[in-house]
Amino acid sequence: MSIRIGILGYGNLGRGVECAVRQNPDMELAAVFTRRNPEDVHILTETASVCRVSEAADWKDKIDVMILCGGSATDLPEQSPEFAKLFNIVDSFDTHARIPEHFANVDAAAKEGGKVGIISVGWDPGMFSLNRMYANAILPEGKDYTFWGKGVSQGHSDAIRRINGVKDGKQYTIPVDAALEAVRNGENPELTTREKHTRECFVVLEEGADAAKVEEEIKTMPNYFADYDTTVHFISEQELKEKHSGIPHGGFVLRSGMTGWEKEHRHLIEYSLKLDSNPEFTSSVIAAYARAAYRLASEGQTGCRTVFDIAPAYLSAKSGEELRASML
Ligand code: NDP
Repeated sequence: MSIRIGILGYGNLGRGVECAVRQNPDMELAAVFTRRNPEDVHILTETASVCRVSEAADWKDKIDVMILCGGSATDLPEQSPEFAKLFNIVDSFDTHARIPEHFANVDAAAKEGGKVGIISVGWDPGMFSLNRMYANAILPEGKDYTFWGKGVSQGHSDAIRRINGVKDGKQYTIPVDAALEAVRNGENPELTTREKHTRECFVVLEEGADAAKVEEEIKTMPNYFADYDTTVHFISEQELKEKHSGIPHGGFVLRSGMTGWEKEHRHLIEYSLKLDSNPEFTSSVIAAYARAAYRLASEGQTGCRTVFDIAPAYLSAKSGEELRASML
């Protein structure tokens, strides 16, 4: 019997999960739940239903894992604990500073409902977190580096769009090559925010807007741009649509470490991702962890987990025997 998946929230991630389920023969999409009018939400899977979020409880026995695809800012802090009482859940909560609080809330809810909740699944947090942890455990003497990009930052793009006179905009985060090379060369550099990443903005102005004023406002925006070297390009709406409509991302996790009695030998661990579509990749990671949630629940486990707590074999559709024969 295949793992019956529910998707709660049908944005970029929701659509990505639908595609990921299609690539995993041991899973099937049962239903998509939305806060909008279901008639306005058009999914691709002909065999699945589109329902209101308020109907989710009726699906309690028809869904094995509910994947929460809402936003981290306001949706997931409420939805994950609420639905962890009813379903095994997986979410991609990415507000790093609030993960301990989110974990505690989902843990209490999942234990109350006798369910499993796996939170903060994706690439960062997610695959990057795992690689940081493995590298730290293996090389206790060393230094960690994470570089993001080249990729679109949704938060920074939103910040640009909120400026007066801006009609639309996209922001790319780009790692500084020289910094990346210094790390790869084992120089263990101390890098400031400005030395690690640059920011490049593509902006469409409202008619009559003052370009110089908008550029100044972007470059001096605290937290978002002020601490970075930022380039601003003004382009037409047409060009933005043609050249900047994708959601690529990626990055590098590195640990540069030393071993030997006098720490005479250097090692570099590097994990990198180049993603054509951030949400589709994130959703593919989530699908693998949905399989893990299903298996943990089948064993009678309850409560919250993160990627650190899940043994790797739980992610794979292959059996332990197959894995040992083909991948060890
Ligand atoms: P979206 O903004 O595309 O979707 C969020 C929610 O918005 C949807 O679930 C949907 O809920 C609602 N929505 C309202 N109106 C619309 C509309 N017209 N079209 C589409 N959706 C609509 O966010 P993403 O899917 O891109 O990202 C979700 C979260 O995933 C992000 O907040 C981020 O924190 C996290 N993330 C985590 C990553 C990681 O590596 N851990 C990587 C990438 C993202 P409803 O159907 O109920 O209306």
